[in-house]
Amino acid sequence: MSMRLRGRHVGWFLAALVSGAVAMVGCAVGGENEEGPAEVVEGPGVEEGDEARVDVEPLHLGDRGPEVRTLYGYLKAFGYFPNAELHEFIGWKPVFDQELTDPEVFDETLERALTLYQLAHGLPSDGTVNAETLALMAKPRCGFPDYYAGPHPFNVQDGVSNYVLSGLKWNKNALTYSFANHTTDLPAANTESDIRQAFNRWAAVTPLSFTKAGGTTDVRIGFYHGDHGDGHPFDGPYGVLAHAFYPSHGGTHFDEAENWTQNGTGIDLWSVALHEFGHTIGLNHSADTNAVMYAAYTGPRRELHHDDISGAQAIYGQKTIGWSWSGPMAGRFCTLINEPADPHHWNDNYLCSTVNYGFQWSYAGPIAGMRCTQIHEGSEPAAHTWHDNYLCVPNNSPLNLVWSSAGPIDGRTCTQIIEPGDPHTWHDNHLCY
Ligand SMILES: [Zn+2]
Ligand SMILES: [Zn+2]
Repeated sequence: MSMRLRGRHVGWFLAALVSGAVAMVGCAVGGENEEGPAEVVEGPGVEEGDEARVDVEPLHLGDRGPEVRTLYGYLKAFGYFPNAELHEFIGWKPVFDQELTDPEVFDETLERALTLYQLAHGLPSDGTVNAETLALMAKPRCGFPDYYAGPHPFNVQDGVSNYVLSGLKWNKNALTYSFANHTTDLPAANTESDIRQAFNRWAAVTPLSFTKAGGTTDVRIGFYHGDHGDGHPFDGPYGVLAHAFYPSHGGTHFDEAENWTQNGTGIDLWSVALHEFGHTIGLNHSADTNAVMYAAYTGPRRELHHDDISGAQAIYGQKTIGWSWSGPMAGRFCTLINEPADPHHWNDNYLCSTVNYGFQWSYAGPIAGMRCTQIHEGSEPAAHTWHDNYLCVPNNSPLNLVWSSAGPIDGRTCTQIIEPGDPHTWHDNHLCY
């Protein structure tokens, strides 16, 4: 037994790692293994707290004992070794084809698996369970396996995106979603607004839209205890928080045993939903520790990082309609959006799209023979005459434009229409379609 933990917080720390691993090992080996690390656990008793006092002697190549089995169980649960429980994840293959011959012996295969785990999580990759690695393993995380499609190398060079694509995507942009149930931790309306916020973040950077609907929907959201029928049971508080499946499965499941909150205590629902919907649209885990798609939960993270945005746009492309307040965008079809009576830089503003939608702009009322949408900002002084401004498309256009001067509209793809040089609250104006 080579790994020794010392310090005042050793008890919860070891319990944190093992309590997560217990359920996962149980999930990994099913009934075929009656023993396992449950015997070395004193009980979950996990509390969020500091981990700074822990003193760890690294677990490494050549070590033997139940800690090695715990490590193996953890890596197995997240896709590094064969695991029948992970086959609901369509197309999933383990990083290593073979199980360890002796799960209590830290051999070279386990060392390589641990090195890949460290690479996948932005840790120094020395192949030993040092304090930093153990601390990360003790954190709650997403149940989605690492290296989903195999041991493809993570690119960890500076300036290069760490996102990894699954190769699977939705073959349409307008997606529907529904709730199988709601958590009992929050009022249903609060749960739905957090889910809406999470969807909005992905819709803001891609052509995707998410609309709540009845009947059979593309994305199905639910909160479940333990075994909930997809072969991937939840493990109780902490450990695995949620999981979601690649397109076009649509299942997005949250562990009801967690304390779901909206205020940063407990587990932040918005943040976890934002991460899970990344999988729902086809993103894998990112090694970028700042990314929403980083596997571990380290507290609220409610906005997409550029790594996440790059990943989503690599799958679905950028929004098809973009806005520029500093001249036309290269390579796009652009329409000048101006109001000559407004002195606030409304002379170099363009609406640009990847395909030619035939936009026409009018600052003198709707254009006859076209389908026109009024573009206005109520707080503009009347002298700036935004009341008679219209954006028009041909009558047979596929676009159904809707204007909002109070934020994006649920269920639609929206482009922010902003002129930073104009003091009249243009920041919350959106053109939706
Ligand atoms: Zn995940
Ligand atoms: Zn599930």
